[in-house]
Amino acid sequence: MSHAPGSPERAALHAFLGRHQRFLLTTHVNPDGDAIGSEVAFARWLRAAGKTVRILNDSPTPRAFEWLAEEGPVELYSESLAETRFAEADALVVIDTGNQQRIGRLAEPLARHAIAVAVVDHHVTHDGFGQVNVIEPAAAAAAVLVYELIREAGVAIDEVSAMALYVGLATDTGNFRYSNTDSRALRMAADLVELGVDASEVTSRVHQSAPPGRLRFFGEALAALEMRHGGQLVVLEATPEQFQRHGLSGADTEGLVDLPRAIEGVEAVALFSEVEPGRVKVSLRSTGRVNIDGVCARLGGGGHPHAAGVMLRGTREQARARVLPDLERVLDELPATAAEKAPARGAGA
Ligand code: 5GP
Ligand code: MN
Repeated sequence: MSHAPGSPERAALHAFLGRHQRFLLTTHVNPDGDAIGSEVAFARWLRAAGKTVRILNDSPTPRAFEWLAEEGPVELYSESLAETRFAEADALVVIDTGNQQRIGRLAEPLARHAIAVAVVDHHVTHDGFGQVNVIEPAAAAAAVLVYELIREAGVAIDEVSAMALYVGLATDTGNFRYSNTDSRALRMAADLVELGVDASEVTSRVHQSAPPGRLRFFGEALAALEMRHGGQLVVLEATPEQFQRHGLSGADTEGLVDLPRAIEGVEAVALFSEVEPGRVKVSLRSTGRVNIDGVCARLGGGGHPHAAGVMLRGTREQARARVLPDLERVLDELPATAAEKAPARGAGA
């Protein structure tokens, strides 16, 4: 799908926003920078247009984005709060996921309340459950879509919204390093800087909020990394014992799976993170040549061609057995280059 300003779906979304008055916004479970940043900017846009807006998420905001969530403000799910917010609203906008089950515990009240639904998302795997679905996988971040929608509406973007959109764009592109970093993303970043975003300041707010235990945990996980498939695949694990000992939650693995991309010759990285005994969060990354979303989609998860995930029940060993053979098959399909035929350096470390 291409860059689609003025597409029928976008026109339908503008009409949807125009005909409703009381909005509830939400996003996927375990929200990331794109989820929170996009929600905050979207809420401020609607509020400036005279609408009533609430933001309610299934899962807590990670520490790194709490300062931004205050600008929403972003509320955390409880059964009674969800009941109130659904009863008050006449429209729901779901941002950064097009998968109904990914909104977590909000799926249940959604099924019971007669409420209009619009989806704004950039994931490949989606079930388009809105009456209106602006789903454009070509966009690097949901924040790109929110930015372009606000622009199309001809509304000014204030400094806080610019910062929120910058957070979404910068986090989903790995600070403009991943394969989704295109000219459209970089032009948007330049516009946001012109609107007053201090890129260095925002980056430190997001990346300088880790507790020391998080780095000790990264150190342990990285020290135990496994090289497989002739050096093309890195496998990492995290155990419930490690989460406990370092006082961390599942969200604290954020960024870990991206680090082994730095190893020469690596095509894919897999992280098996056993957040609590019997629940393994699988995160897959590609450095650009192979598409790994299919591996997750076949197991009920999804994501993007180069970054995808799925939650599996069972042991880490069972999760590995369900993921790694399929992932290695994807790597087998790579056209071999001279460099890859040579023995991989550091393999078996
Ligand atoms: P992460 O590995 O950072 O959790 O997720 C990488 C990408 O895959 C993100 O775009 C995320 O939205 C998507 N993703 C992660 N877990 C799941 C899942 O269980 N289901 C689906 N559909 N997508 C997921
Ligand atoms: Mn996103």
